[in-house]
Amino acid sequence: MNEILKLSINEMANASFDCSCGRHHTFGVDDLIMGKGVLPQITEILKDYKNKKIYMISDNNTFKAAGKDTLKILTDAGFQVKSNVIDSGDDILIPDEKAVGNMFMELEKDTEVIVSVGSGTLNDMAKFMSQRTRIPYVIVCTAPSMDGYASEGAPLIYKGRKISYDAWLPMAILGDTNIMKDAPMHMLRAGYGDVIGKLTALADWRLSQEQTGEYFCETITELVQKAIKKVVDSTDALAKREEDAVLYLIEALTLTGVAMGLIGVSRPASGAEHMLSHYWEMAFIEHGKYPELHGIKVGIATPIIAQIFEEMRDELPESVIQMMPSRDYVEDLLKRVGAPVYPTDVKIDKELFYRSIIEGNTVRERYSILDLAVKKGKIEEIAQKLTDRFYN
Ligand SMILES: [Zn+2]
Ligand SMILES: [Zn+2]
Repeated sequence: MNEILKLSINEMANASFDCSCGRHHTFGVDDLIMGKGVLPQITEILKDYKNKKIYMISDNNTFKAAGKDTLKILTDAGFQVKSNVIDSGDDILIPDEKAVGNMFMELEKDTEVIVSVGSGTLNDMAKFMSQRTRIPYVIVCTAPSMDGYASEGAPLIYKGRKISYDAWLPMAILGDTNIMKDAPMHMLRAGYGDVIGKLTALADWRLSQEQTGEYFCETITELVQKAIKKVVDSTDALAKREEDAVLYLIEALTLTGVAMGLIGVSRPASGAEHMLSHYWEMAFIEHGKYPELHGIKVGIATPIIAQIFEEMRDELPESVIQMMPSRDYVEDLLKRVGAPVYPTDVKIDKELFYRSIIEGNTVRERYSILDLAVKKGKIEEIAQKLTDRFYN
């Protein structure tokens, strides 16, 4: 029944099984190839597209990291590739009208497959284009900075607001760990933050099951917990960029991506810590400020949500208490890996911070500890206490 827990990542493509939760889970990605030196396998993944038009998208940074090599491997093997390197300036690419428009305008007629080279943003853009054009896409991962390779939506920026668009799963996910391990340390820390965020996400999911009767899957939870444990156990090694630790991080992010794909919702990967992160991100974008990497913000939000769980302890069922991490534990992990820990580290001001705690539960309809605090009339008191801790 729980065979999925024994599979290696590469065996999970097209996984399909009857789960102990009573549901049938399937993962609809044809190829999931992760490992050292696997980039040349792109020719195998695309073998049915040999005489067809391939559209490859990347940005300045991801072209350097893996786009150049991907392009060379494909053209050397006789593939027809149109490459579009989208200008991201000195910063990370923002998936707004300009970038998405650029991507669509360079799309040639009769393109049969899209190859996206990058991590968060380029993946989101490609999965959106794929859904709208019905052209399948392949993602070549460049950095273990987030887990959205196989998630349900594509968050893009439209008119200064972040909107989640319908998206498709990729036909294949290819991650060459030789490339991903060279990602900038800040991106590894972001990936670490996104993994640590699962601690509160899983506690929120359990809370919702207890409070609202929402569906919950033990097997998927165990799958994610196993992956988190390996990452947490290698925290100090990751701070030193040891290769094994980077590999565990890549594995954990891919696994949580698979976990989301298997049940078709992002519950095992995203709870109240993601809502705070989104709230801050929207405010940053609205004010034209650099929004910071997703996982960096999620990392900062996680001990804050952990503290809210602690403040609400008397209201929580035992099953949730067992799953919630302590604030000090999470803060210590972030410090050890050298990641930003406090909202002030990424210039979230006092007013925005306070408002984000009060209104965080409105970011999306998803039951979390924030809803419970609102319902019990404790959110103002908690928001004040947290604000006083960071801003004085
Ligand atoms: Zn299940
Ligand atoms: Zn995330």
